[in-house]
Amino acid sequence: MVSFQRLAICTLFFSLAIAGVAAWAWLGVAYMLGLLLLGLACYVVFFINQPIKALSRVAADVAAGEHNARARIAGSGKMAALAVQFNQMLDAWQLIEEQEHQAALHTLSILDNMADGIITINERGEIESFSQTASRIFGYHRQEVIGKNIAILMPEPHRSHHDSYLQHYHRTGEARVMGVPREIEGERKDGSIFALSLAVSKLSTPTGKTTFIGLVRDITQYREDEQEIRRLAFYDPLTGLANRRLLADRLNQAMINSTRSLQHGAVIFLDLDHFKQLNDNLGHDIGDILLQQVAARLLDCVREGDSVARLGGDEFIVLLEALSPNANEAVPQAEVIAQKILQSLGQPYTLNEHNYHSTPSIGIVLFMGDGENMEELLKKADVAMYQAKNAGRNTARFYDPVMQAAAVAYEQSVKDLRRGLAEQELILQYQIQVDGSGETTGAEALVRWNHPHRGLVPPAEFIPLAEETGLILPLGQWVLDTACAQLQLWAGHATTAEWTMSVNISGLQFAQANFVEIVDTALTRSKANARRLRLELTENILLTDLDDIIHKMNQLKKRGIHFALDDFGIGYSSLATLKKLPLDQLKIDQSFVRDILTDPNHAIIARAIIVLGHSLGLKVIAEGVETAGHRDFLSIIGCVAYQGYYFGRPVFVEELKIGTNDGSED
Ligand code: C2E
Ligand code: MG
Ligand code: MG
Repeated sequence: MVSFQRLAICTLFFSLAIAGVAAWAWLGVAYMLGLLLLGLACYVVFFINQPIKALSRVAADVAAGEHNARARIAGSGKMAALAVQFNQMLDAWQLIEEQEHQAALHTLSILDNMADGIITINERGEIESFSQTASRIFGYHRQEVIGKNIAILMPEPHRSHHDSYLQHYHRTGEARVMGVPREIEGERKDGSIFALSLAVSKLSTPTGKTTFIGLVRDITQYREDEQEIRRLAFYDPLTGLANRRLLADRLNQAMINSTRSLQHGAVIFLDLDHFKQLNDNLGHDIGDILLQQVAARLLDCVREGDSVARLGGDEFIVLLEALSPNANEAVPQAEVIAQKILQSLGQPYTLNEHNYHSTPSIGIVLFMGDGENMEELLKKADVAMYQAKNAGRNTARFYDPVMQAAAVAYEQSVKDLRRGLAEQELILQYQIQVDGSGETTGAEALVRWNHPHRGLVPPAEFIPLAEETGLILPLGQWVLDTACAQLQLWAGHATTAEWTMSVNISGLQFAQANFVEIVDTALTRSKANARRLRLELTENILLTDLDDIIHKMNQLKKRGIHFALDDFGIGYSSLATLKKLPLDQLKIDQSFVRDILTDPNHAIIARAIIVLGHSLGLKVIAEGVETAGHRDFLSIIGCVAYQGYYFGRPVFVEELKIGTNDGSED
């Protein structure tokens, strides 16, 4: 470059010298001018064109992607300065480009890492971009779908819907499904269909190009969670049947339907007979298996539109709809289903390795319209079910209003008894027991309910109720405490100091795990002499855990307490069982005593009981002794202890006759 410069300058001076020497000649002038022009041309070529070429080459390289290409022009001339500025401009541009690139990468990575996939399509439905999340959701690679129609990601009918949306857009220019996310189905590359949420928005550029942006999310898990929540809220986890809440909904709907169609519906309430025993004997796991198998059989017994629900425990409900508008026809329709259920549930079950036979008791109530609420209907069906139980189980009964009235009365009695207990309306009467010489040896405590409206209510009218409801436990405890306190009072008087106190103990009371402690507490509290306390048990107590009974009796006997077997002769205790029990006394049931003079069989039984008792080393007392004849006969056949109206009725403590009784009661 430098040699060119020098050559141009030398040429210029040489030309001027020639011109000076031959100034006079036109030729010389022309020659001079020619040389001057030549010199200028050389200058332009070497000093301007070359640097510009160099700059343009760099520009072309940068444009071709060689961002690091830079112009190099030597020297300190203007062109060199221009090259420096040109390079600076390229540096600045490269920096901006780099920043923009980073920003674009950042945006892309945001889009790719969003929970929602992003898919853009053009107006023809062709996919233009496909984010990584979309790729993950659909199982396609970006390259596999770019340019393809969006329809490949949708199963029918969504594919057709989408086509019609696009056609609508082309016809009217109006995009219908914008903004709000909708739930549709997506189709993955492997052909599987899944729940998809899709929100579409539209982007129009100033050039008139339209892009639709679809935000997609796989909501399979969400749907599954939702279903699980629904299952837990509305279905019984053990059997998968509807639970009470869902039944309420369905019953409600069934009633509305019935109002509209004027057709009857029916609620079938069923309870498994002796289910508790199965649970107690084989354990809850086996009980659960039975419930699951029952649920499956019930589902087989009903029609498509009918519902089966489990209320809890072993109680199931079948809801029948669309029975005849005529009750006379609806009853047999429901009856047929009930019989089918009885038949099906009565088939043998295999519960793990156990073969088991179970039956249900079924109560049915018909309904028409929506006049009643679910609780009322269920109560009626329950009443009918109990009717079925009372009829011997394994049977079905329709709801009977008379039965319902009895059920209402029962409920009220329970409430009343609970109240009576709380308000201390129970009282004790005492009936004396005498020996062969008529001398009072003690008394039996007999509870009464001093009812504010009903007067003195005998125990037969409330003890069974107390036993059914468990109220016998607080009631029995009160009797025991009060009787022990009375025994202690008698101990303080010479005439009564030797008396014994007989207290009736219900089976439920005796079955309490802490019964021995309960008796201990009563004795400690009252300071009564345990040797003078006699507990009267009945034979039905022996149907429960015999070893437990014997153990408790022995514990109590160690304290000096005596035992009598009450109402003996009417129960089912075997002689073998009787022999095992640490008893002291047998009480001949009053039914034998009543007819002892007129019914030879009863006389024989009474005699047999006395012989049996004595041979087992037990004392024998007869109850229900009403006449001198009774007493005399009993005495002849060897019974020398009596209790009955002949000697004294049950009375309040202050009315008791102390001393010898010879039948002066009436
Ligand atoms: P029980 O223990 O066999 O009591 C004897 C029942 O026979 C008493 O009836 C008594 O009043 C009645 N009685 C006594 N002598 C005669 C007689 O000569 N002729 C007739 N016809 N009856 C006579 P009550 O008091 O009505 O008690 C009935 C049953 O109620 C009792 O039979 C007993 O099983 C139960 N009971 C009474 N008090 C209690 C109690 O505190 N706890 C428990 N668990 N049961 C009780
Ligand atoms: Mg008794
Ligand atoms: Mg008795």
